[in-house]
Amino acid sequence: MTFDPAKRIQDVLLFGEFGGVNPSITDSSTYTFMSTEKMEELFDHEIEGCFLYSRHWNKTNKYLSDVLARMEDAEAAQVTASGMAAISSTLIQLCSAGDEIVSSRTVYGGTYALMKNLLPRMGITTRFVDMQNEAAIRAAITPRTRVLYCESMSNPLLEVSDIPALSRIAREFGIRLIVDNTFSPLILSPLRLGADVVVHSMTKFINGTSDCVAGCIISSQEFIASLSDINSGPCMLFGPVLDSLRAASLLKNLHSLHIRMSQHSKNALYLAQFLEQEGLPVHYPGLESHPQHQWMTTHWNPGFGYGGIVALDAGESAVAAKLMALMQERKVGYLAVSLGYFKTLFSAPAHSTSSEIPEDELASIGISDGLIRFSVGLDRDIEQTCGIIRDCLAEVGLSANAAA
Ligand SMILES: *Cc1c(COP(=O)(O)O)cnc(C)c1O
Repeated sequence: MTFDPAKRIQDVLLFGEFGGVNPSITDSSTYTFMSTEKMEELFDHEIEGCFLYSRHWNKTNKYLSDVLARMEDAEAAQVTASGMAAISSTLIQLCSAGDEIVSSRTVYGGTYALMKNLLPRMGITTRFVDMQNEAAIRAAITPRTRVLYCESMSNPLLEVSDIPALSRIAREFGIRLIVDNTFSPLILSPLRLGADVVVHSMTKFINGTSDCVAGCIISSQEFIASLSDINSGPCMLFGPVLDSLRAASLLKNLHSLHIRMSQHSKNALYLAQFLEQEGLPVHYPGLESHPQHQWMTTHWNPGFGYGGIVALDAGESAVAAKLMALMQERKVGYLAVSLGYFKTLFSAPAHSTSSEIPEDELASIGISDGLIRFSVGLDRDIEQTCGIIRDCLAEVGLSANAAA
């Protein structure tokens, strides 16, 4: 039977303190106890439904975490103040000084910088490899490797990771597979495909309104409990706690995620097909020309499409810059980083989100200077939007009609 993460969210019914249709929001940093004995007990081990201090856990963050765990078909989840907090807490929990990470070379720029520049100060080093190349992955794993790290869909070229194959390698070497599922919530369920830990930047599609920064970690009960261990857990001791007001608004937005993902995907497919017909180099897993198109169609949760991100190679960086400025002027969307917003966002990864990656490395990965990443919005009339884009392309000399 196919797994439907949106139905798992649909089945949640939570009540507020006075019977409200939304659960009440925790407005406290600290919690009272009826006795000193009870307080001591809670310092020893977690007690279901009992809270101590909001950096550790609070009910609002628990509500959101529990729904996220259901969405990914997992035992437990932990929400964090950002996607980077989710990633750094997970890596610090799994690696100690002397340990190694094998990571995809096409990860989010912040993740790349964390592994390349910051973690080495703690004695944790990373080898970056092409995740589509199994021999390269195997060659990079050493007895000190603890983690295999990738994104479900790579940023910004949208290569789709073969999670079951990566999971087999991780199991063979006794290491953990971490998958960043930010680009494909609902569409892919990495834990069901063999990953050990899933992280999300909820700043993007899950929240969908570009008004806050948040993240989450989803895994086994044991792993999630270790993250908030009072004496040794990074989510407790580095303190990347999500504010409960934000957690409450994220929970409300999570209930419309399936509608939004379907519409983002529908519009992104339309744009990708339009750009391909214009004869332009475009990356989108929904196109038959995409190398993992078939893989996606057999491993996804059907009904949510191929995601909302499209990458267009505009060639030169000056052409890309001109095109983006024009598209913003004509109200196609915003020239901005980030993704998953209801309006279309576009940016040049080589000059923004992937600028942490050195130039020669960008070139070898295939991230050209003129690459534009679109996060396609929820446009009611995508045909009209593509009509405007067609005019912009012609003006910068990019479309098939430009010569005419
Ligand atoms: C944005 C992003 C992150 C970082 O998340 P923040 O919420 O900005 O900290 C990590 N991974 C991917 C794939 C992202 O797009």
